[in-house]
Amino acid sequence: MIKTPEEITKIRKAGKILATVAKVVLARAEQGKTLRSLDKLAEELINNAGGEPAFLGYQPHGARRPYPNSICTSVNDVVVHGTPDNYRLKSGDVLKLDFGVIYDGWYADAAWTAGIGGITARAQKLIKVTEKALFAGIKQAKPGNHLGDIGWAINSEVSGHGFKVVDGLTGHGVGRQLHEEPSVFNEGERGRGILLKPGMVLAIEPMVSAGTAKIVQNRDDSFAIADGSLSAHFEHTIAIKDGGAEILTII
Ligand code: MG
Repeated sequence: MIKTPEEITKIRKAGKILATVAKVVLARAEQGKTLRSLDKLAEELINNAGGEPAFLGYQPHGARRPYPNSICTSVNDVVVHGTPDNYRLKSGDVLKLDFGVIYDGWYADAAWTAGIGGITARAQKLIKVTEKALFAGIKQAKPGNHLGDIGWAINSEVSGHGFKVVDGLTGHGVGRQLHEEPSVFNEGERGRGILLKPGMVLAIEPMVSAGTAKIVQNRDDSFAIADGSLSAHFEHTIAIKDGGAEILTII
């Protein structure tokens, strides 16, 4: 679970490629664009930068097939694992962009949520609170704290604004593989769970619903909020260091 400084250097490189590509893709995510065109763009940019798309061909536990694309694009009530198809983005959509990059065998993973065109005040608040929750969690990712402190901070931020972290989906360790131990829950108790140590690399990722916390799995393996409510998702890969967390996927 502990990575050496040399290993973290490689994850940092993967994270840098990821963030650079995400910035371009998010800027291009606008009304009239298809999700598929964003996937093609991301794949090309990742490959040109010397990375590999980590999601392409990946089959997480419980998925019905290996993942056919380089990015996940989840719109509105779909919270994660949305497949980039020919859907055209329209004003009012809430888009979640989530993808991973491999560099020299090392993985980074991150996600962002963007409003397309004009979005409602409630959607804006959901996005802002979810991003704040991510940074509240990251702030707790320091030596001497426990894993539960991260989830506690995330859930406090989310529930304090009347939203809910979704059931059954968590962050994770990341590095040699896309998903490693431990699971990083988006709720928890202060001082509970494993002790955090320098060299741990975690993907922290609040997934938040404006309605029920319950999710359903769609036919394409994506997960959507069970009552059709809007959802948001932010994620960073971070390394725990003596002074606190270094964000390896910051844009
Ligand atoms: Mg992740």
